[in-house]
Order: sequence, then structure tokens, then C-alpha cells
Amino acid sequence: MGDSLRSSDDPPGASSIAAILDPSSPPVVRSPISRVFPDVGPPLLEAIREGRHRKLALQVPAGLVRNAHELASEIREATGRPVVMVSRACFGACDAPAADKIAGADALVVLGHSPIPNVAYPLPTYFVEMRSTGGDPASLAATVAGGGLPHRLGVVASVQHLDLVEPLTKALAARGIELRTGAGDHRLAHAAQALGCNYTSAQSLGAWAEAFLFLGTGRFHPLGLALAVDRPVWALDPLRNELEPPVDRAGLIRGRLLMVARALDARRFGILVSTFEGQNRSGMAASLAERARRRGREAEILVAGRLDPRDLEGRQFDAYVNTACPRIALDDAASYPRPMLTPPEFLMALGELPMEPYRFDTYH
Ligand code: SF4
Repeated sequence: MGDSLRSSDDPPGASSIAAILDPSSPPVVRSPISRVFPDVGPPLLEAIREGRHRKLALQVPAGLVRNAHELASEIREATGRPVVMVSRACFGACDAPAADKIAGADALVVLGHSPIPNVAYPLPTYFVEMRSTGGDPASLAATVAGGGLPHRLGVVASVQHLDLVEPLTKALAARGIELRTGAGDHRLAHAAQALGCNYTSAQSLGAWAEAFLFLGTGRFHPLGLALAVDRPVWALDPLRNELEPPVDRAGLIRGRLLMVARALDARRFGILVSTFEGQNRSGMAASLAERARRRGREAEILVAGRLDPRDLEGRQFDAYVNTACPRIALDDAASYPRPMLTPPEFLMALGELPMEPYRFDTYH
């Protein structure tokens, strides 16, 4: 823990900054039955049949909506059970629908995500990670070796590409590049796993890593990882065998500090809390509201399931603090009518945390 988090002038009775931002990692929760499958295949269908459920609900992320109807039919035919689709796409295993929101279904099938071990799922849940078999380790290692990367690399991968980590590690070792995998905290199901709100698998490698390699597609994880670690982040698309140059971390941080600057004079803060089981930091929101009031600011807590920018229109707040999914403030701030801060950024705006070093909002 950095000294910057030990505030000597913490108001009496207020939780310390460290306790608010880095609560001890909650233990693994024993959900009713939570099982993990690599893909949609006979073992999944057999497990669902054995579960003897009355009715199933299927939830998929936006990118897999197209395949969802086929999968629903497959499950229906293979198990003889009714299947309803959750129309709200899920962003992560953090926002599974509540048991009373799925039309009497007594089990859930979630596509494209791993379970989050410290989230309590209310129903038996089958996670289908959709592991990819694509990517040739030898060719990918050649691309990395030709890219001029440092020779001590930490690796982080989206769950779809985790099976590639071990063969790529071997292929890179043959070229004199050491790739290391770190274990994360209780929010991660797998070592080396990337979660948009938690890169503790990378952070656990400490100073050993000279740079990080993200294995997967898109910019979502490279951007998050770049904010979470203070070393260069390269991204390797394993299917296209394309290596992206390091993310402009300094530019990202400049943008976030500008957002903080816009909130420096804010008097009234709206503090957003999610009701989703895996995004609910209501304790943190209460602590932040208390700190704001003790600094002479007004703070109101606003509760929502999925946050919609239209719900904030016409409200008399000068700025918002988001305690739900950390990526709402980082990726979607432009959709909101007022500055949207993460909890560490809010503490910067209150003058309770220094502007440097920048602190990524890790959801533990
Ligand atoms: S909180 Fe956000 S980043 Fe984290 S798992 Fe949920 S959707 Fe993903």
C-alpha cells in the first residue's frame, strides 16, 4: 500500500482511504452450483440434463447475440427443458439477472464469461467460457520476437484465449523471451485472466515485468491494463497474428486528470451504486458520501441496475462518482452530462489523494 493512502487527517469516524479503495479481498463464495465449461458441447448439455431444472434462462454478451438463438434451440432439444433468453446482454459475470427477473427459470446459462469467484450467484449457473483453439504459438512467438519487446514480459489474456498462454510461453522461451503468468485476487477465476475491472494477475508480477503482453482482441483490455500498470502494454491478436504498439498511457492519464480538474469546484456529487450482485459497492459509496460531506460538499447516492445516461438528465449534480462497473467512468464518460469520476479520482478531486501516481479503480 502506498504512503499516499495513509491520510493523517482522515476525519474522525471516517473509514481510511486504504480501507475504502482496497478492502480486503472477499473470500470465494459458495454459490448454489456454479459450473464452468470450455464450450457448448456434450459435457455442458449432459450437465444441464442431470441438473433436472424446470426451466433455463440463457444470457449472452452483445458480441454473441447472433449465436444465442441457435444455442437456445440446441439446449431445448438436448434437454427437453424450456429455455428463455435474457434480452439484456451481459457485460460480465458481474451482472447476472436476479432470480425473480427470469420468468420462473431455476438455472442460468451464461455464455462468454468465467464465474467471478467472490460473487454469489443466486441460481445454479453454467458458465460457458467459449475457449478459442485459434492462434499458432510458433508464428505468434515470431511476431513478438520481431516486435522489439523487452525480454521479461507479463501476460494477461481474455478468457477465450487463456489456453494459448502455456504454448506461447514455451514458444517464446525458445526465442529467449520469458513470459510470466500472475495469479490475481478473488475476483479472478484463472491466473493470467484479464477482467476489465481487475488486472491483479498482471499487478501481482510486481517489478519483475518490464512490459505486458495482452493476448486477445479489441482495445478494451489493453486500455484498462495500461491504466492499471505503469509499464508498456502491447496487444497481440492471436487470430490475426497482429501486434499493436504500446498504448499511450500518458495520454490516457492526461484525459482522466482533465476529468478530475473539471470536478474540482463541484459542490454537489451524485454517487452511483449498482444493484447487480457483482457490481454493488454500496459500502464504498456510503464511505465516499461521508468523506464528501465532511469536506463541506453535498453527496447523494443514486441506485440503479444498468445505468442509463438518460436517467441522470435534469438532475442538479455538478459531477458523478461511479462505484458500479469501473469502466463506465473510464470508457463511457462522454455519454454523461457531467464529469464522471472513478472513486480514486473523486478522492483526488477532494484533495485526499495526490494526482500522481494515477490509480486505476480496481474492483476487488
Ligand atoms: S464490473 Fe465491469 S469490467 Fe468488471 S466484470 Fe463487470 S462488466 Fe466487466
